[in-house]
Amino acid sequence: MAQPSREDLAISENLTRIAGSLFARGYSYGSAGNMSARVRNAIVATPTNSSFGHLETERLSLLDATGVHISGDKPTKEINFHLGIYRAVPAAGAIVHLHSTYATAFSCLNDLPDADPLPYFTPYFPMRVARMPVVPYYPPGSLELAASVEAVAADGPVILLRNHGSIAWGADLSTAAALAEELEEQCKLWFLLEGRGRALSNAELAALHARFGTPGA
Ligand SMILES: [Zn+2]
Repeated sequence: MAQPSREDLAISENLTRIAGSLFARGYSYGSAGNMSARVRNAIVATPTNSSFGHLETERLSLLDATGVHISGDKPTKEINFHLGIYRAVPAAGAIVHLHSTYATAFSCLNDLPDADPLPYFTPYFPMRVARMPVVPYYPPGSLELAASVEAVAADGPVILLRNHGSIAWGADLSTAAALAEELEEQCKLWFLLEGRGRALSNAELAALHARFGTPGA
């Protein structure tokens, strides 16, 4: 691959900056979570066992579109589901995967349905997320997990991984990160409300979609 362009470098620097911000605000801890973004015909991703809080832009993993490692450190072991999302969703320009506390706790609840497990308490989330698929538990990094994520990725842009965490994709890193943060806050509300919350009604959701458009439409 040719030398990275200025635009590629800007995306990589943005990834390092956003990861640092997620870490500083407690959305990631230790070496939990991973991120990636498309750069021209390649993908830049967080390295395996790296911490969002201590990334170095020049050490980020660069892979070709098929997942072959080109340069930088070895990529996250969860790179396979990133590649699956990019295959399934041409509009996905970036992916943020978190083990953030409330979304992960929510993913561990008994009896979660296959989709839409979360009531819509506030407007922002349903304005951006029409449907949230729930992927069954598989070991991190497994091809089964990657295949299950790829199968539902187009239903995103937010996916809950059973007993694991969340994935958000977006046109760019800021959009994906904002969605991942919003899911975490919605799950936090769910726990804080302890079953006493009033979810937005179907009529209220329809009015929101009439006013702001249906996400993904
Ligand atoms: Zn994970």
